[in-house]
Amino acid sequence: MAKRDYYEILGVSKNATEAELKKAYRQMAMKYHPDKNPGDKASEDKFKEAAEAYDVLSDAQKRQRYDQFGHAGMGAGSGFGGGGMNMDDIFSHFGDIFGDMFGGGYSSRGGGQRSRRVNKGSNLRVKVKLTLEEIANGVEKKIKVNKYISCNDCSGTGAKGGSSYSTCSTCRGTGQVTRVTNTFLGQMQTSSVCPHCGGEGQIITDKCNTCFGNGIVKGEDIISLNIPAGVAEGMQLSVSGKGNAAARGGIAGDLIIVIEEIEHPELIRDGDNLLYEHYITFPDAAMGTSVEVPTIDGKARVKIEAGTQSGKVLRLKGKGLPSLNSYSRGDLLVNINIWTPQTLSKEEKAMLEKLQASHNFKPHPNKKDKNFFERMREMFH
Ligand SMILES: [Zn+2]
Ligand SMILES: [Zn+2]
Repeated sequence: MAKRDYYEILGVSKNATEAELKKAYRQMAMKYHPDKNPGDKASEDKFKEAAEAYDVLSDAQKRQRYDQFGHAGMGAGSGFGGGGMNMDDIFSHFGDIFGDMFGGGYSSRGGGQRSRRVNKGSNLRVKVKLTLEEIANGVEKKIKVNKYISCNDCSGTGAKGGSSYSTCSTCRGTGQVTRVTNTFLGQMQTSSVCPHCGGEGQIITDKCNTCFGNGIVKGEDIISLNIPAGVAEGMQLSVSGKGNAAARGGIAGDLIIVIEEIEHPELIRDGDNLLYEHYITFPDAAMGTSVEVPTIDGKARVKIEAGTQSGKVLRLKGKGLPSLNSYSRGDLLVNINIWTPQTLSKEEKAMLEKLQASHNFKPHPNKKDKNFFERMREMFH
């Protein structure tokens, strides 16, 4: 099924402000909230769809990326977030938005049946530096991250021996407590997170000595990353479940990879294109020659036509970087400059004076040649 436009889902304009987005999302979430539509699959889908749209549009970076590349830039296949959210994600991300409309608490779903709190590990951000060559070809990187990992001695439960815990007597394992208060409107029933067990439904009777009952310890993990070709500085790649482990057997957070580009010694990146500046001598420009230029995968030979003007841009089709979202490739643009000697011997000066008198050495720009502005446009767009 083709994905709908995120702005369309929330019913807002492309330049909606943060406040407008939040308001639109609240309305959608309220309408399709599972508590209001128990067992209705279509509503649940709409609820999830709205959460995904809001998740992307409320994050400046994700929104910019979506505006630029559409769904292709967000899809799970590209390794970038936004590829659908489950209910746990939605309630843990946007719980504060529902908070004041359903009376607070961690979550309210499942048609009145309160569910136990599930701990969520925090996300971890790691920078990964890539060379232009790695960006051009895509790369598999193994990185070592320091993070919270599940405690081995208690299998992440936080309880000594992995089994010394009991059901919370306050909430009888539900993780929620209900309080009945008498008001002038009648009896009011409110539910909230059990203060005794923190909503987990169970109490550890004998804490694990290694993790002090947390179920997690500091440790390190080696993670293999498949970085797709064409990524750029500042892009974020999220690896679900590879962030910090959650306390007492919850859901691990995500590992967010932030891409950093290592500057290439010769080539400059401009989107999918690469730029290179090459100097030739005046005689070579006048008589023609061929020169070697660096590319991302070795050297390439380029023909310089006789009569080449300084500032000419030669386009090497497909010698740029692959596009992240399509099968196209950028070009390598070689900007040809003519080197003017900065010192002259007596003999050289005499020769140049002779040449200066020749009619051919007077500038007469050919109107058919691209002018400076056209060349710049070609280089940078
Ligand atoms: Zn432990
Ligand atoms: Zn409890």
